[in-house]
Amino acid sequence: MYRGLVEELAQKNDSRILLAVIDGLGDISIEELGGKTPLEAAVTPEMDRLAAGGALGVHIPVARGITPGSGPAHLGLFGYDPVLYQVGRGVLAALGVGFELKYGDLAARINFCTLDDKGIVTDRRAGRITTEKCVELVGMLADIRVEGVETFVVPVKQHRACVVFRGDDQSDDIQDTDPGLVGHRPVPVEGSDKSRRVVREFLRKAEEILKGLHPANFILLRGFALHKEFPSIEERFGLTAAAVALYPMYRGVAGLAGMNVVKCDPENLSGQAKAVKKALDDGHDFIFLHHKPADSAGEDGNIQAKIRAIEEFDRALPSFLDSRFAVVCITGDHSTPCPMKLHSWHSVPVLIHGGPRRWGYSSAFSEKQAICGAMGTFRAIDIMPLLLASAGKLAKFGA
Ligand code: ZN
Repeated sequence: MYRGLVEELAQKNDSRILLAVIDGLGDISIEELGGKTPLEAAVTPEMDRLAAGGALGVHIPVARGITPGSGPAHLGLFGYDPVLYQVGRGVLAALGVGFELKYGDLAARINFCTLDDKGIVTDRRAGRITTEKCVELVGMLADIRVEGVETFVVPVKQHRACVVFRGDDQSDDIQDTDPGLVGHRPVPVEGSDKSRRVVREFLRKAEEILKGLHPANFILLRGFALHKEFPSIEERFGLTAAAVALYPMYRGVAGLAGMNVVKCDPENLSGQAKAVKKALDDGHDFIFLHHKPADSAGEDGNIQAKIRAIEEFDRALPSFLDSRFAVVCITGDHSTPCPMKLHSWHSVPVLIHGGPRRWGYSSAFSEKQAICGAMGTFRAIDIMPLLLASAGKLAKFGA
């Protein structure tokens, strides 16, 4: 296992840390808001109160100018250099639904799709079939046997599922069969190595099973990825971590870092609050809490929805602030500016409350105040050492 300075110095104690991630939190100046960002326009008394007594800064998710996906952006927040630890979408999808991957497994995402009678893709999502329908179709594909591997098919949500091939000598050097656009045929899997042969045979058998059904009469495969060995957050930093996230991708990436991915019932902020308390009761000393709607609103370009998503989190915040947390950090994984309707490279505000800290001039949690904050600008992978240090979990370096 890789052991850097932080791993060498990490030490256990009774302090507990909350890392709350508002997905896509960062934004840019928006004309309709008089140059404010959604975070600046939102009414957020709870986060402002923490900002006034805490330390602010901004993080650079990967590197200057680099726009990250949510997977690598979260790995950065968890202290894993996202350039060194590259993880494919197939692995994230499988982990996200709680599938227990073994090292060497080859995983890919499935989209049920609609083909016309000439084999042309007319709908890449098969009309977004219901999750119940997806479960039924997955049940049919689960019977497929392919020589040389064990095959697992698991439902995700609506038209999405994933497939895992378990066996020796697999490779993830396989391109997506999803053409990415309607009006094209699925991309054929060419080549003669084992994994390509396995995938071709799986697709041929899936075609036979789904042929004649409607609207889901075929599958597209994307994001082939091998599950490679990954040091856990426990091994690296001595943390017993729990992930309180509702969406599969985030549950997956947290699982990859060795966090216990806990159930939330109901699947909303109040269910997440209950899950946080339970995770603390169960002895976890690091909780990752994820709030998705701000990112979705940013991708839709919906400024008011992004403001509402941030305010909704702020109202729920007291229910997460258990007195057992010594250190609370609130940040985003990346920016999703509404005017861009995309992720971006812009820095992301970070708020750390608790532990010995240097106050700045902050009175509110906002991009402008965070940029001028006491912690300055740093890379996302520095957040974990800062949280460990704030919680007294990093020993002194040298005599
Ligand atoms: Zn994200």
